[in-house]
Amino acid sequence: MNPAGPAGDELAERLMRLVRDVPDFPLPGVLFKDIMPLLADGPTLAAVVDHIVGAHRAADFHVVAGIEARGFLLAGPIAYAAGCGVVAIRKAGKLPGRVLSTSYQLEYGEGVLELQRAALAPGQRVLLVDDVLATGGTMAAALALIASAGAVVAGVAVLIELIDLAGRERLPMDVAALLSV
Ligand code: AMP
Repeated sequence: MNPAGPAGDELAERLMRLVRDVPDFPLPGVLFKDIMPLLADGPTLAAVVDHIVGAHRAADFHVVAGIEARGFLLAGPIAYAAGCGVVAIRKAGKLPGRVLSTSYQLEYGEGVLELQRAALAPGQRVLLVDDVLATGGTMAAALALIASAGAVVAGVAVLIELIDLAGRERLPMDVAALLSV
């Protein structure tokens, strides 16, 4: 579902224009959604950030968690606009100190995501963001990490949801997608 109302429709149209489809990247058969042209367009980046912050204001989040790597590019400005901080959910071996880890299924093999143990306080309300929801494995792993830190997922936001891959069906909570294709 795209965001409600004319403002949401207009934003979804801008996303369609500014997200580039790249066939066979990074592997044959994958249609990669390249959000870099969207991020490079200042007014659209601002509109996306403002929309996500507005859509989740009632969720009363205290911190924004971004998933490596393009999720980081969204989490920073969203946190700034909302007046809170960011935490990073990263691939294995990138974060120093004690970390929580969770493994998840990739198309070929297994991935591991990590979160620093001290990054989230128990009960802290987290807005989780990423660029694309595909099969949902990455998001499910990130949700599990936040839960194992004792924090609470107040909302999940992505720019684009790939409907055919049915990622949202794997997740225990709703995902707000700016564009569902
Ligand atoms: P998945 O775990 O299958 O939902 O994959 C989601 C993660 O992989 C996100 O962090 C995306 O950045 C990336 N990803 C998966 N498929 C695509 C795609 N078609 N275009 C761009 N990024 C993708």
